[in-house]
Amino acid sequence: MTIKKVVVIGAGTMGSGIAGQVANAGVEVWLLDLPSDGERVNALAERGLERLRETGGLMCKDYEKQIHLGNTRDDFHQLADCDWVAEAVVERLEIKKTLYKQIDAVCSDRTLLSSNTSSIPIKLLVEDMPIGFRKRFAITHFFNPVRFMPLLELVRGEDTVQEVMDEFEHFCDQELGKGVISCLDTPGFLGNRVGCFAIQAALQAADEMGLSPVQADAIFGRPMGVPKTGVFGLYDLIGIDLMSDVAQSLVNTLPETDAFNVEAPRLPLMVKMIANGQTGNKQGQGFYRTVDGERHVIDLKTGEYSRAERLDLPLALKAEKEGVMHLLNDDSIYGQFAWRVLSRTLSYAASLIPDVGNSPLGVDDAMKLGYNWVKGPFALLDEIGSDYFISRLQKEGHQVPPFLMQASGFSFYRVDADNLQVRVFDDGWQTICRPEGVLRFNEKRQTLTPQNSTEVASWFNLDGIALVEFHSKANALDSDSMAILSDAIDHVEAQGLRGLIIHNDAQHFSCGVNLQAVRGFFLTEDMDGLDAFLAHFQNTVHRMSQADFPVVCAPVGMSLGGGFEVVLHSKEVICHANSTMGLVESGVGVIPGGGGCKETLYRWHQKLGSADISEAPWKAFMNLGYGRTCSSPILAKQYAMLRSNDRVLNNRDRLLPAAIAAIESGAGQRAFERPDLALPGEEVFHSMLRRLENAYTEGKLTPHNVVVATELARIVTGGDVAAGTLFNEQDLYDAERTAFVKLVSTEATRARINSMLDTGTVVQN
Ligand code: NAD
Repeated sequence: MTIKKVVVIGAGTMGSGIAGQVANAGVEVWLLDLPSDGERVNALAERGLERLRETGGLMCKDYEKQIHLGNTRDDFHQLADCDWVAEAVVERLEIKKTLYKQIDAVCSDRTLLSSNTSSIPIKLLVEDMPIGFRKRFAITHFFNPVRFMPLLELVRGEDTVQEVMDEFEHFCDQELGKGVISCLDTPGFLGNRVGCFAIQAALQAADEMGLSPVQADAIFGRPMGVPKTGVFGLYDLIGIDLMSDVAQSLVNTLPETDAFNVEAPRLPLMVKMIANGQTGNKQGQGFYRTVDGERHVIDLKTGEYSRAERLDLPLALKAEKEGVMHLLNDDSIYGQFAWRVLSRTLSYAASLIPDVGNSPLGVDDAMKLGYNWVKGPFALLDEIGSDYFISRLQKEGHQVPPFLMQASGFSFYRVDADNLQVRVFDDGWQTICRPEGVLRFNEKRQTLTPQNSTEVASWFNLDGIALVEFHSKANALDSDSMAILSDAIDHVEAQGLRGLIIHNDAQHFSCGVNLQAVRGFFLTEDMDGLDAFLAHFQNTVHRMSQADFPVVCAPVGMSLGGGFEVVLHSKEVICHANSTMGLVESGVGVIPGGGGCKETLYRWHQKLGSADISEAPWKAFMNLGYGRTCSSPILAKQYAMLRSNDRVLNNRDRLLPAAIAAIESGAGQRAFERPDLALPGEEVFHSMLRRLENAYTEGKLTPHNVVVATELARIVTGGDVAAGTLFNEQDLYDAERTAFVKLVSTEATRARINSMLDTGTVVQN
């Protein structure tokens, strides 16, 4: 069956998100909520769509056309010919049960049915329903925000038939782009069971150990491999009231002996905060709040707010870079906090095996896909070492879960004969098998040895294809990254490899050139060195665009600045649908110097195909001057950042196999044709400058914005030359380098780079 029409019932946070993702997949969807009194009978569904717009749940505005709004009184007949009814109404069993009766009366006997429930067992949901309904019913548990969180937990009922499970798995994976994990019908399934435990354990530990939210979040964040929002920031993001309810609903469903019950209680302060409306970001205040642009934090004892001072912890930085053992080996309060949270959370995760399934893989996957952890609990245990972990637990008199004991002296993952394997309960090792067409480079890498590697990048021989992986912090690029890319290109040529893929499995493909490296050049006044670095960068990406072998870039997350220049010079791009891309250099007082200005200009020329030689320069000027970023590849195509034939996949785990297939076929890949360009010269150059002057006079630009944009105008128009003067590709590369070096020579650009590196914000000079 192909799902062509979906009805989502309940247009709240989750229902609107699910409808949005269905629309993103190009499938028609009806979003129904209760009818409202008065003229706007669909007010609740309209609010759902509004919420979707506010949260960026749609990849582009056009996709709204796929969503029809309605209500359960007037539009229920839409269920009659739909392929899937996704129920996402409030978490109240009786309301859901009543609705199911109504659904059953209308739906055809082939419609797939599911609930998004977080906590109600499937058995209870369908206990009153006929077998025909139960056979087609499953739980499809999405995570918020639906577009961005890859996890989908799929739970089968006792009567659900295999075809229905297969259909859900196929549609949610291939069309909605989710990492589908089959879960048993246990409370909280996998993600929330472990995720809520970790959050609560961190909350209680911070409170009992007297750590402020700023201190706790400095550790329970990137240093521990979890998102930088930390625990208190995450509470504010979710909503202190909602998160407390989730914890309470888990307590209600778990046995009394479950270790979660110890961690679950609210802090006394939170009761007051909820009563006062200090429920987090949605109310503008929670554990944190922003006052006149300044971040304030609450005192957990008094409830008073004060300025949140920036906390520079060398320990946290070291752990983020080199691993969690730096925290555990530290005997300061921070190290003790880390051990307390990790020892409890990882033991808890281990104690759930085999009740939630006999393999730890599901738990690890769920924490990565649903909570954005860099590693799941069991991979973290491997990093720490099970012996260290067990003996420290025993020394402190804690019980060691049986599954953890099985790993004593061993690990949970291993590579055996080029296969990655996972330890399963009481049954030795199992080779990790992903669905056909799914491959995560993080896993594949464990079975490979790099051909060449530095601290920031490596390249691998992936069955005859060179694969370059960036792996510095935020995947910032420097001369070593370019050296690895260049070396890989050399070897594809010399060894006759089949092609080149640039890809990584990190959160972001690359956030741009490493500004520390740029600062290094200006601190030593080495402008020749800076020029040489840029020339090397340009030369390397140029070789990608001209190669006589296939070159595919498969980016995920953010590709900004220099990172996006690598994307721009790839002969083919296969990117994830949630990619964000753009040339943002103007913000820090420079211009794209790695071929980005040149490519923007050529691409606008190609897209417009106009005889008017001023059109493309104007478009390029606007893209580059505003440092435009596109929050989806669909938008990037509209702004000539991607070509119409560049491909977009909803499931990021399918990028690498698609890139390999593209290399194998090599179809349609030609070296870039970059003929000489006739630029419009002085007249357009000066009208751009007048525009900048006006914007400056109106207070829309700062003095240095004007300086930077003047250099962009000069590159894209050719500057003070006659209209129609021809520029070749190298002229444009050279113009970029000259402008880049000139700008880095100014005090204003240096001040911007310094402020960015030292404070994380850019001075507006
Ligand atoms: P919500 O309160 O934001 O929205 C629920 C919507 O259901 C409301 O718009 C309400 O008007 C509507 N509704 C109530 N009764 C209805 C009925 N009989 N017919 C049609 N509409 C009706 O709730 P939510 O956060 O979107 O949660 C929805 C479901 O998803 C719940 O089962 C919840 O447990 C689950 N869930 C929530 C999250 C989350 O982070 N919020 C995450 C995963 C799962």
